[in-house]
Amino acid sequence: EYLIDQIAAGEVVERPASVVKELVENALDAGARRIQIATAGGGKTLMRVTDDGRGIPREELRLAVRRHCTSKLSGGLDAIASLGFRGEALPSIGSVAKLSLLSRAAGAQEAFEVRVAAGACEGPMPGALTKGTVVEVRDLFQSVPARLKFLKSDRAETSAITEIVKRLSIAFPGVRFELSGPDRSRLVLEAVPADEPLRRICDVVGRDFSENAVEIDAVREDVRLSGYAGLPSFHKGNSLSQYLFVNGRPVRDKMLISALSGAYADMMERGRYPLAVLFLEIDPSLVDVNVHPAKADVRFRDPQLVRGLIVGAIREAMAAEGV
Ligand code: ADP
Ligand code: MG
Repeated sequence: EYLIDQIAAGEVVERPASVVKELVENALDAGARRIQIATAGGGKTLMRVTDDGRGIPREELRLAVRRHCTSKLSGGLDAIASLGFRGEALPSIGSVAKLSLLSRAAGAQEAFEVRVAAGACEGPMPGALTKGTVVEVRDLFQSVPARLKFLKSDRAETSAITEIVKRLSIAFPGVRFELSGPDRSRLVLEAVPADEPLRRICDVVGRDFSENAVEIDAVREDVRLSGYAGLPSFHKGNSLSQYLFVNGRPVRDKMLISALSGAYADMMERGRYPLAVLFLEIDPSLVDVNVHPAKADVRFRDPQLVRGLIVGAIREAMAAEGV
């Protein structure tokens, strides 16, 4: 099973940022309102995610790090409301790093901890925690030198982690995020009211976005696109400034990104990128957001419809602004 986990890890755990993504998604699935992320060495030496969610009962702690054990499929595959459901992330992480889970389940008198290293699980043993869960991942890929070699500099891995946290934070404006990295660098995103999503967006992409963006809200055949698209004259975008969400999940899908650049094609100089934050809401049966566990690809039943909606909505909104 250890070997199977290591192979599965190749799918789920590409780099430190993919670990942070899985851990933060678990915290969100647990209903956390405050999530703290701490990293060292670009995440290669340490990633620690602390949440105030519902926690894991003592008897489930060992299961949580076992393959295909998930607490999230009670409604069946069609009713998935959570970000995770495969039960693959923690065992995969545990097979390529030292992993510990310290948790106090809601209503429990005590906290317990399990530790996984080299495929062996220790615990549960008593630990100290007032609420929620602390997941710690150390020495990622130390036991898999072939993978360690492919990681980038600490700086590059740190910025990939920051990018993941920013994307998830836009999808969950009601949650407070705190990311601390090397050199006491800190990103704090205070919780904002659900009816003021632009506040969280501006906290992430910069205050000046609100004066340099047009609001998008369009529907085509039950597919809804909403959010904000930066004016073509707003030159703050880069190749990562397309914040796209499908049914509340951050995605980085080639077709969506190409639709977006298509929308701006004759408004923007070549080599420039728009800054845009767009939310697509679509019947879950018309989209598969889980094509690949780690990659943020999406498969749409009708890609042309989605492309047309994006291009049409942005062009119309820009035209209405006289752009
Ligand atoms: P999945 O998220 O697909 O269910 P994971 O391997 O990511 O699989 O997590 C396994 C299980 O561990 C989850 O189903 C959940 O029950 C539990 N779990 C993991 N992290 C947390 C957390 N931060 N708070 C509460 N439960 C958690
Ligand atoms: Mg998960």
